[in-house]
Amino acid sequence: MKSCSVRCDLHLHTNVSDGDFSVDYVVGREKSLGLDVISVTDHDTVDGVARAVELGSSLGMVVVPGVELSTMDDREVHMLGYNVDYTDKKFIGELKDLREMRRKRNAMMLEKLKEFGIDVSEADMLAVACGTTVGRAHIAKAMVKKGYCQSMNQAFDEYLGFGKKAYVKEKRISPEEGIALILRYGGTPVLAHPYSLEMDDETADVFVGRLAAAGLRGIESEYFSHTISDKEKYGRLADKYRLIRTGGSDFHRETPDAQRQKFACFDSACLTELKIDAEKI
Ligand SMILES: [Zn+2]
Ligand SMILES: [Zn+2]
Repeated sequence: MKSCSVRCDLHLHTNVSDGDFSVDYVVGREKSLGLDVISVTDHDTVDGVARAVELGSSLGMVVVPGVELSTMDDREVHMLGYNVDYTDKKFIGELKDLREMRRKRNAMMLEKLKEFGIDVSEADMLAVACGTTVGRAHIAKAMVKKGYCQSMNQAFDEYLGFGKKAYVKEKRISPEEGIALILRYGGTPVLAHPYSLEMDDETADVFVGRLAAAGLRGIESEYFSHTISDKEKYGRLADKYRLIRTGGSDFHRETPDAQRQKFACFDSACLTELKIDAEKI
């Protein structure tokens, strides 16, 4: 982290996927926090990007078009894609196919929940969703709404989280396929929140090396919940494999945590790779 003249949050969700708020709310919120550069990175969809870009520019902010793909290795791996061509119909079609995989998995998880006496239907899920991508967060919301759980966290901890009672490992594209998809549409692939991979140093090194060979260009080392040692660990890997360091708040909803990082600042290599013209900010 060098100069802090450009305040960035490159990881934001809206209710186009599993966030609570509209694109307009989220972009307005970031403006009020004093951000210069933001990216709306909804899961497997770019449906909110055009509006975010339009609104951001009217408010004097740079909005980097973004997406967050869910991919699967031996564990779930999220891949951010920046500057993807969000108007390309073929790209939009490929994202739709990814969401269809998610829909099938949702149905399997709802079936599993029934085994535990939890009756959540697809209609219940859709009733708590208003965007394009419907997934586990909406199952969790419906479970809370119907009184099966006290909170979304409880729903994930007991049923929906990785390896929990109703978790279904879904068929998804591999991280390499996610990288290739982003590259195919002109984007910059960045490994999201690497702490969530729960890898020791050596495993992480091998994994990042593997993805770098497949075309990965960045690591989200400055993720809001990373500890200093996480930031150092993934920053070192970024340097080793010549990747940019990015970061963001992964905003989904307002949380009581006042300490939550509001923005991050990146070096010029990152700004250049993401086509952010710092001179104009
Ligand atoms: Zn993610
Ligand atoms: Zn995210």
